[in-house]
Amino acid sequence: MADRRITVAKGDGIGPEITEACIKVLDAAGAPLAYDYISVGKEAYLSGHSSGITKEAWAAMAKNGVFLKGPITTPQGGGYKSLNVTIRKSMGLFANVRPVKSLAPFIETTFPDMDIVVIRENEEDLYAGIEHQQTQEVVQCLKLVSRPGCEKIVRYAFEYARAYGRKKVTCMSKDNIMKQTDGMFHAIFDKMSKEYPDIESDHYIIDIGSARIANNPEQFDIIVTLNLYGDIISDITAEIAGSVGLGGSANVGTEFSMFEAIHGSAPDIAGKNIANPSGLIHGACMMLVHLNMPEYAEKILSALYCTIEDGVHTGDMRSDHTRELVGTAEFAQAIIDRLGREPKKLNVTKPTSHKITIDVDTHKDVPKALVGVDMFLDWKEGDRDADKLGKMLEALEAENLVLKMITNRGVKVYPDGRDETFHTDHWRCRFVAKEMLEPEAKGKAYLEDICTYRSIITLCDELEKCGLNFIKLENLYYFQGKRCYSQAQGE
Ligand code: NAD
Repeated sequence: MADRRITVAKGDGIGPEITEACIKVLDAAGAPLAYDYISVGKEAYLSGHSSGITKEAWAAMAKNGVFLKGPITTPQGGGYKSLNVTIRKSMGLFANVRPVKSLAPFIETTFPDMDIVVIRENEEDLYAGIEHQQTQEVVQCLKLVSRPGCEKIVRYAFEYARAYGRKKVTCMSKDNIMKQTDGMFHAIFDKMSKEYPDIESDHYIIDIGSARIANNPEQFDIIVTLNLYGDIISDITAEIAGSVGLGGSANVGTEFSMFEAIHGSAPDIAGKNIANPSGLIHGACMMLVHLNMPEYAEKILSALYCTIEDGVHTGDMRSDHTRELVGTAEFAQAIIDRLGREPKKLNVTKPTSHKITIDVDTHKDVPKALVGVDMFLDWKEGDRDADKLGKMLEALEAENLVLKMITNRGVKVYPDGRDETFHTDHWRCRFVAKEMLEPEAKGKAYLEDICTYRSIITLCDELEKCGLNFIKLENLYYFQGKRCYSQAQGE
């Protein structure tokens, strides 16, 4: 059989050391792979590619479809976009799979039975990277969550559970606060879970869920969550299992996949031959399973676990079981020396390859009704008196649009604001079609526009005439007769 070509980038910091160690292990295990090396990250950033990747590197990656990547340093400061995020999003890598299993007693952990897979949405959420400064005092970051994005990742989590014989999928979100974005994620999870009666399902608000992970991770099996929460909790799960240097990660899409360690480029220990290559080796084993070569993954994992059982450890794994503290290259050699052996205590779950196919539902159009607009103003006149602003806006004429309320950082300040509320220079002024203020409008399911886009343009004109500086607007919609914008705190 001809070798399967994959693309490899050694990355930055400890990247070259751990990647070389990992490739040596893959080769010694006889994995039928051939490598096309590309250079991404710091070198590309410094040569003027703000995304950290050249055109040629994109082409090489796309050709092979599978990418093994060492960690990358994202230079601090503006002008540089995270290469990891760019690759995940550009290549449609919607699922980030991060399994963490305790290797107790050989690696110290309070949780010897921990065996969690974090499945993290990988393309959306705050990682859209859309940020703006809008006023002198206020900046914003857009949290974008899409229905197909939620459906793909939740479906993937349940299909993964079935394929790999897992028993339970736990959803984590913050939908008590973010009712539209996290609310959609949770609602899709609840709906889809009914299609998998063989898999147990439950939900935690992310804050108490994270606390439970820290205190009792053994209660969890698979966790599916949004991008940012998943990033954070998967570092926590790796760390409490023993070391962040152990965790591997698969970034999976329909056409393309990328495998890596969960940790970063660890500049503090780079070039010292002390980094643990196990995270990238775990990532490479996930790649072998993905490439339908599970026998090589099993061989490597067995040798890795024998090495750990024998007490041959890198510095981050040091414990009472450590007999020999070794560097990165020596650790790789120790794994190679044990290829063909079975661990005595640690259990290597027999890796099996499964193709998980995800179909995204195509949704039919639903009725969408425009009912008003949230107009955001930069306003710092006088003593920032909300009543003064309210009176000014109430006097404006823009067809049937009328002011309903004003909020400052989400809390209602007009009408009937509280004196104690702090006012920044960033005001959200909600204008709605007049009929929405009538008592009979309560509970009405709008299916058609009740104001016009022209009225919003007229409103902008009126604001401009008053010298009011509008910085952004957000239209207010009902979808399928359901109000789809948030209420203000205190409304
Ligand atoms: P980091 O994960 O690089 O390091 C955190 C801590 O863990 C450090 O003390 C480090 O020494 C230790 N550590 C990490 N990997 C280890 C290993 N294999 N063996 C032993 N110890 C290890 O996180 P950071 O310092 O916050 O980030 C450094 C750089 O990495 C940043 O530029 C960041 O943007 C980047 N980063 C890249 C990725 C990626 O490429 N997927 C992920 C996270 C961070």
